[in-house]
Amino acid sequence: RGAIAFKDVHFAYDPARPILKGISFEVPAGKTVAVVGPSGAGKSTLSRLLYRFYDVQQGAITVDGQDVRDITQQSLRGAIGMVPQDTVLFNDTIAYNIRYGRTAASDAEVEAAAEAAQIADFVGGLPDGYRAMVGERGLKLSGGEKQRVAIARTILKAPPILILDEATSALDTKTEQEIQAALDVVSRNRTTLVIAHRLSTVINADEIIVLKDGVIAERGTHGELIDRD
Ligand code: ADP
Ligand code: ADP
Repeated sequence: RGAIAFKDVHFAYDPARPILKGISFEVPAGKTVAVVGPSGAGKSTLSRLLYRFYDVQQGAITVDGQDVRDITQQSLRGAIGMVPQDTVLFNDTIAYNIRYGRTAASDAEVEAAAEAAQIADFVGGLPDGYRAMVGERGLKLSGGEKQRVAIARTILKAPPILILDEATSALDTKTEQEIQAALDVVSRNRTTLVIAHRLSTVINADEIIVLKDGVIAERGTHGELIDRD
């Protein structure tokens, strides 16, 4: 489920400066496609169009063959899990933040998701565990800890589609590897759109799309793109 198709997508925030000038590619159900390219190339704009923060101005985006403009916002956003670069948490408990949008989830479900995201370690060190406020411990959660909360939220939501928007780029190398390992687990068998800065971080993608000046400059597997360099 969750096959995505971008079909001749055009978009500009400012009509005088087109950002996407005819982008076409597919993310087959269950596969992972990465979009890389320089800062400002329009990578995040693609994910905002899929999520319908904005609508395409020409062309179309479909999910399982259906135009996203014909899908209700609730059902579209319910089908998409998003892990952004910097997760902003609600000033509430860790459990609340994991449960976000799934208020009916039981404590056992929240804890299972948290365990899969390997949150147990730091929560174990908090006075009230999952009931601790995210700002507790005299300091804020670290970047890596916040990403783990975002991953647990996604595991609990269990969406067919996953968007990873530079999800590890704000982390140090060691934390990046740990979070990447957790993300690899979440993205398995889910239709995944990865947005990344560097080719080296998307080695395992089924296809890589290189965005430059509003068009697809290159596409292929990591091995193919490296060979061409
Ligand atoms: P990337 O993710 O590749 O870094 P973005 O998709 O975030 O690029 O942005 C593409 C271009 O659109 C950038 O030049 C950015 O400044 C511009 N842009 C992004 N969001 C907006 C906005 N809300 N209004 C106007 N311009 C924007
Ligand atoms: P619901 O599915 O209950 O309608 P939302 O559509 O608000 O909830 O959000 C669904 C998921 O998308 C949540 O996991 C949330 O973290 C994420 N999300 C919502 N808005 C944004 C945003 N602006 N940037 C990144 N992720 C977002």
